[in-house]
Amino acid sequence: MSEATTTDFNSGPHRLHGRIPRHATGVVIIDLERLAGNWRALQSLVSPAKCAAVVKANAYGLGVAEVAPVLAGAGADTFFVATLDEAIEVQRLAPDAQVYVLNGVFPGAAGAMIESRAIPVLSSLPEVEEWGTMAPSRLHPLPCALHVDTGLNRLGLSAREIQQLAHNMHLLDRLDVKLVMSHLACADEPGHLKNEQQREIFERLQPLLPSVPLSLAASDGLMLGAKYHFDLVRPGYALYGGQAVAEHPTPVKPVVEAYARVLQVRELAPGHSIGYSATFVAERVTRIAVIAAGYADGCLRHLSAGNNEEGGHVAFAGKLAPIAGRVSMDLITVDITGLEDTQIERGDWAEIIGPNITIEDVGRASGTIGYEVLTRLSHRFTRIYTCKSDFQQPQD
Ligand SMILES: *Cc1c(COP(=O)(O)O)cnc(C)c1O
Repeated sequence: MSEATTTDFNSGPHRLHGRIPRHATGVVIIDLERLAGNWRALQSLVSPAKCAAVVKANAYGLGVAEVAPVLAGAGADTFFVATLDEAIEVQRLAPDAQVYVLNGVFPGAAGAMIESRAIPVLSSLPEVEEWGTMAPSRLHPLPCALHVDTGLNRLGLSAREIQQLAHNMHLLDRLDVKLVMSHLACADEPGHLKNEQQREIFERLQPLLPSVPLSLAASDGLMLGAKYHFDLVRPGYALYGGQAVAEHPTPVKPVVEAYARVLQVRELAPGHSIGYSATFVAERVTRIAVIAAGYADGCLRHLSAGNNEEGGHVAFAGKLAPIAGRVSMDLITVDITGLEDTQIERGDWAEIIGPNITIEDVGRASGTIGYEVLTRLSHRFTRIYTCKSDFQQPQD
């Protein structure tokens, strides 16, 4: 019997040979062992503060049904989502967890929130008032978190609203405030002055607010140092292996890989164009691999490349090959002329995200960020969730 190993990020989908259906045109491989490891690494980095887990948007596209139980198993007991429906799903998957709803409650929706026992994050005085009114009495205050605005100017109580709330004992008595939080605007730029300004405003507001646990930092913010940790950090992207800030790498490992099949390899004569709108014209004899992944699979159309327009890449056996021509709904075409030494055949796997192409690489090449790449990951590809036991040989 061979020793169990964690995922080998250099062996591509072949290592999962038995688990990939023969007809699968693409695979998204999600390493649950790494996911759990990432949460543990972040928790030990921020200790004695506590590490929550943000699993909104279907766990950033990775699949909340698989992700939430693994994070709960690793020790996460506080989850953040954006909507009530997401909260109800997480409660089902991690019954002992506390689940916060970042988008709070809008008029008329408080009843459903109360019924679910999810905790709304309240972001304006009218919202706080509406929530307080729902409390049957001051003996039964309703749990909530308060989101205070420290300069993002998106959601959150203003300094003035916080003053008003501080003087409204009648209202405060009806709230069981579990957490006071704010959110940073520029945490992905560690040197940005706004980080420190927001942190100072957050501290300055505390005397006006109930003395409860505090939370300011998400994935990038928690790398700004211990004074940004307060009592609870709220990473999402980093849990999934995201590394938004090259100067301050988060102590996490990649979790996601995506591969798609080569459908054909063809030769293009000089002067001939490829794909819609003929944006790429061969200047020499060009070898093209046609790959079964398109914008419907999350390979954004911005990855397209013409003769004068750089685009994205895929990789074969560790070597990058540039996309040539338009990305279409189901297909991309890739120039493999420079990979003469690599045998590429119909049915082979092209790496789209993996050891040679990070989520950030794809984000940059698509004119967006890795977050958007993750949340748009293909649901057409076969999804494979791996953990340690997948690599253990069965005993006989
Ligand atoms: C999405 C979100 C997070 C998580 O952000 P990451 O950058 O993915 O770590 C934390 N807090 C709030 C308020 C959010 O909206």
